[in-house]
Amino acid sequence: MELVTGTLEKLHEGTVWAEGPVWIPQSQSVRWSDIPNNRILEFNPASGRTREYATAVEYTNGRTLDHDGSVVQCSHGRRRVERDHDGVVSSIVDSFGDHRLNSPNDVVVAKDGTVWFTDPPYGILPGTVEGHEGEQEYGGCYVFRFDPAARELSPVVTDLVHPNGLAFSPDESLLYVADTAGPGRGVPFRIAAYPVKDGRCGEGSTFVELEDGRASDGFRVDVEGRVWTSAGPSVRVYAPDGGLLAAVDVPERVSNLCFGGPDGRDLYITATTSLYRLRTATQDAARR
Ligand code: MG
Repeated sequence: MELVTGTLEKLHEGTVWAEGPVWIPQSQSVRWSDIPNNRILEFNPASGRTREYATAVEYTNGRTLDHDGSVVQCSHGRRRVERDHDGVVSSIVDSFGDHRLNSPNDVVVAKDGTVWFTDPPYGILPGTVEGHEGEQEYGGCYVFRFDPAARELSPVVTDLVHPNGLAFSPDESLLYVADTAGPGRGVPFRIAAYPVKDGRCGEGSTFVELEDGRASDGFRVDVEGRVWTSAGPSVRVYAPDGGLLAAVDVPERVSNLCFGGPDGRDLYITATTSLYRLRTATQDAARR
């Protein structure tokens, strides 16, 4: 079966660094971040138009849909994970004990409503244009699980250097997490996989290792458990066993992607200055 059934279309141009796409069923549009420009954009495929959804947003990055249709997103500037409910933005979690988070980067909501997110330092590094310079207060870069009912924040992955994109396998028995630290920090670009049980992660292993210049920043998992990921200036699709199934070149460095469109089979791709779309034969495992 051909997984990619169309050719790459450019839908919008004019961002400095595009990231954090999510499909919003309510408005039938894709929402994403232009992080250095500190704004959120929305593209509506029916009209073909892009609008500025919000400005001065404190450097939002990755986002996902919660079960109630609200959007859960990461804010580098506020160093928190927050909720956008019809334009009203409120904090979900912003600290680990007495320490502020670094700069949450990407987030998923599990079937049980818990919020899982990565916390690398990209939004607080010296000279950053994606947030405000600051200290790493708890001294690490963890993946966290937040239980909104118990208001409890737990580190679930602590052995990655710069955890970035994350997604569950369809049955949530595995959590995939990208590490974008890379050879410059003495580790390979890779996606790690962790077995998940009772809200905790077991020992991780490398799912795929990517060559230098081909970092995986963000990804989604489809209904068959395939991983659709950014890989430098390309999108790659990996089978659950790590085998490469497809690769599509993109003219710019890709950060992230999401499934969307009326039937959920359009892949929206955020890539540096542009938003692209690719028609596929599948849908997001987490589609609801
Ligand atoms: Mg990211």
